[in-house]
Amino acid sequence: MYKRIKDLDIGSVLKNVYGRIQNATEKRPANIAGKKPRLVAVSKTKPKEMVVVAYEWGQRHFGENYVLEKCKDIQWHFIGHLQRNKVNKLVSKTGVDPDQVCYLVGHILGNCPSLDFAGLMTIGSLYHDLSLGPNPDFQHLIKCANETCIHFGLDVNSIELSMGMSGDFEHAIEVGSTNVRIGSTIFGARNNPEKHSEIPA
Ligand SMILES: *Cc1c(COP(=O)(O)O)cnc(C)c1O
Repeated sequence: MYKRIKDLDIGSVLKNVYGRIQNATEKRPANIAGKKPRLVAVSKTKPKEMVVVAYEWGQRHFGENYVLEKCKDIQWHFIGHLQRNKVNKLVSKTGVDPDQVCYLVGHILGNCPSLDFAGLMTIGSLYHDLSLGPNPDFQHLIKCANETCIHFGLDVNSIELSMGMSGDFEHAIEVGSTNVRIGSTIFGARNNPEKHSEIPA
């Protein structure tokens, strides 16, 4: 069961989200202004027809993997746990503590010629009150990215900071996100039994 969203709704919601992304990008301080954020539409648990509708409205980056013959130029982004059967020879990784990031990145750079280190991702606290200041989880990721790049001599502007979801993507962009992952705002609330409870649609 899912809340039916009409085709037109997905189109107008997408337009609205693109506009909000643009506005948040324009609010950035000059030193991070160059990092244009990408929108990854997260369609998990939703029927693939919804992906096709969003595709038809011009969206190309999606956060789940379906076989969709007619949308060949979709770019899929794995945003969840990596699974052995999906990523050959890669151990299942659900994330690391901030103090392990340098070690992991060093391992990827030194021992994994088939992997590119693209950047870092976090899910920020969903309940952060912005009137108290920037979300510390995002600040943490930024700090971690800076330290990692200095350590390995990488250009911090060349790596991705994937942070920001439906509830906090504008703030995430304002502090430097290059990749926002937005699900429920585009596709409607999920009825997701195995995850934290959300209001059933
Ligand atoms: C579900 C999910 C999202 C999207 O969450 P919404 O709050 O629905 O926008 C983003 N990132 C990850 C890793 C997710 O699992």
